[in-house]
Amino acid sequence: MTTTVAIEVTDLSKSFKSKPALKNIFCTIKQGEMVAVVGASGSGKSTLLRHLNGLLSGDSGRVAIFGTALQTDGRNHSKIRSLRSQMGCIFQQFNLVNRLSVIENVLIGNLSRLSLVRSILHLFTKQEKLQALAALERVGILEQAYKRASMLSGGQQQRVAIARCLVQGAKIILADEPIASLDPESSRKVMELLVELNRENGITVVTSLHQIQVVRNYFNRTIALRTGKVMFDGATLELNNAKLQEIYGAATDELVMRGHSDIA
Ligand code: ADP
Ligand code: MG
Repeated sequence: MTTTVAIEVTDLSKSFKSKPALKNIFCTIKQGEMVAVVGASGSGKSTLLRHLNGLLSGDSGRVAIFGTALQTDGRNHSKIRSLRSQMGCIFQQFNLVNRLSVIENVLIGNLSRLSLVRSILHLFTKQEKLQALAALERVGILEQAYKRASMLSGGQQQRVAIARCLVQGAKIILADEPIASLDPESSRKVMELLVELNRENGITVVTSLHQIQVVRNYFNRTIALRTGKVMFDGATLELNNAKLQEIYGAATDELVMRGHSDIA
């Protein structure tokens, strides 16, 4: 049986005003994997995820999605739109359109221009609306469907973002610190949902996190970044506290948060 490669990053580097943020990154993520990207603040987690969906262009190197190049040496390929449509994004800051209802947010996907959104909302078919409701049921917030997005808690808003990925038919979910602004209970629910979509729908999940306890609970594989370099890529089990100390030194404290081990 051959395993499909979902994401392939080859020698990717990126600097912001000559300050390196990613240094010669190589990584291969297979379809159906659930991978954590960890690192202290400023280590390049968000920058890496933004390169995976083409929100940022590298200075050099290549990103390919399901075998098709998305960007090479800073140049976006013509297929970028269709590749992007296979990837759903979840961000730390809940990026819903607050003035729209929950179901409208699910339907519009990643469209952000409100005027355009308003003009196309009535174009959605009954079937699409039913699909959106089914996705909201799947993430456990069907009863919130007609509330304004701004009325929802942070955890519920992240679940709307996940429902949006489902409706979009995403084969890959990129989540940038999706639980950083959530309480432990909401964090647990969001993480369990991502695990469920990975196991049951075969969605490839790449999530950046800075809490090593959460990583150990949910991810078999971890990529650890420090100042834009991959310092570790392997079984999370091997990333024990001694290994963390070796990689991060004093910054380990940022990853092993005291008193936050209650996210089970
Ligand atoms: P993390 O998500 O791990 O906290 P980031 O990817 O946000 O790290 O940042 C990595 C490095 O790149 C940091 O030094 C940060 O200051 C820098 N950086 C990120 N985005 C920008 C930007 N848009 N402009 C300038 N510097 C940036
Ligand atoms: Mg970040």
